[in-house]
Amino acid sequence: MQVFEKIGPLRDTLAGHRNSGKRIGLVPTMGYLHDGHATLIRRAVEECDVVVCSVFVNPQQFNNTSDLSNYPKSWDKDLKLARGLGCQIMFKPGDDEMYPQEPLVRITTKLITTEMEGVFRPGHFEGVALIVVKLLNIVAPDVAYFGQKDLQQLALVRQLTLDLNIPVKITGIPTQRDASGLALSSRNARLSSTQKAQAANIYKALMAAGQQLEDNSDVSKALGAGLEILAKAEINPEYFNVVNSETFQPMQSVEGSNQVAICTAATIGEVRLIDNIIVQLTHDD
Ligand code: AMP
Repeated sequence: MQVFEKIGPLRDTLAGHRNSGKRIGLVPTMGYLHDGHATLIRRAVEECDVVVCSVFVNPQQFNNTSDLSNYPKSWDKDLKLARGLGCQIMFKPGDDEMYPQEPLVRITTKLITTEMEGVFRPGHFEGVALIVVKLLNIVAPDVAYFGQKDLQQLALVRQLTLDLNIPVKITGIPTQRDASGLALSSRNARLSSTQKAQAANIYKALMAAGQQLEDNSDVSKALGAGLEILAKAEINPEYFNVVNSETFQPMQSVEGSNQVAICTAATIGEVRLIDNIIVQLTHDD
């Protein structure tokens, strides 16, 4: 396992691997690795010869300073976990290495980032776009792995690589959950066990809404079923939407759609959580 904090030496090492025909995989993370990250790393190890896992808590994508300062860290554990899974390279740059000066470039995106996280976390996706493009330019991987847990982010990354002609394959990995259904997240470390039990209702609400949609294709009934579960659990979501899974625009009707997503965000205690499910629809007509 090699650890790099500087871009130059990382690039030199990767150029050597590339020249000897090795397939390079990248798993970008913000650290505090859990089984969700492990699934991405495992898949990268299966498919690539050299796997780079980056650990960088990107200040540019945090719109809330306390969220940034409270973001959990566990570098020694992260290193052990990634090494155990067969990851060969960790990239852990400092803020100064990634942003030697305040970046002046902003990458904005239409449509897919205008709703939900784009509304409730102003500037978040610009920060994500910037760091993802920087990491893809630094590592120049053949494949990069992202979780469906951040579904809007995954769509943004796919769009970036398409619109900016970045030669990389983007692979999306299904959301990993604990036994209660709660989506694994580094932020869960800040939840008490009672709050975790409460937060498990987020997935229950998504599943209830998904079931309603599958049964009768009625968006308002589906939203009603999900919101009822959240209300009973005393969870007041920032949004709970059925959206087009390509444009991420909320839908009032799913007529003619074969696939939609149901996305939500809610704060439990002081921790903001997001989750989503993808629903496949079959129409009788
Ligand atoms: P983060 O460290 O939270 O920025 O996440 C790094 C990558 O892991 C992102 O592509 C996330 O979508 C993905 N990820 C985070 N949590 C999960 C999860 N529970 N299941 C699958 N992927 C995840």
